[in-house]
Amino acid sequence: MNCIFCKIANHQQESDIVYEDEKIIVFKDINPHTLIHFLITPKKHIKSINHLKEDDRNLISDMVFLSKKLAKEYGIAGKGYRLVFHVGRGGGQIIDHLHLHLMGGGEIVNE
Ligand code: 5GP
Ligand code: ZN
Repeated sequence: MNCIFCKIANHQQESDIVYEDEKIIVFKDINPHTLIHFLITPKKHIKSINHLKEDDRNLISDMVFLSKKLAKEYGIAGKGYRLVFHVGRGGGQIIDHLHLHLMGGGEIVNE
């Protein structure tokens, strides 16, 4: 499978890694919309929220709690931030490997 986020998870493709454990990798979005823009990504290939299985409950829970922890660590918890899943093309999903956007710290305006 030719999946860019699988390659990032396997360290076959370069990325700016913020956090990593056995099941989850977090890296900076290559085209950030906000000063803090991380992609919380399961290492296993799941196409989207539509493709979640019952067994993935703990994984999704871990992704959300990790977002909370990183938001605090990176100083955006107090002011506030966005957690976003794009689902399918109509939902704005471009990369077909599940990821949760963690966005905060102010918008980056590209002129
Ligand atoms: P989606 O719209 O699928 O939720 O978002 C995909 C995100 O992945 C986009 O914000 C895009 O900038 C980011 N992205 C796409 N390719 C790469 C890449 O090769 N490396 C990194 N770090 N981010 C990527
Ligand atoms: Zn993948």
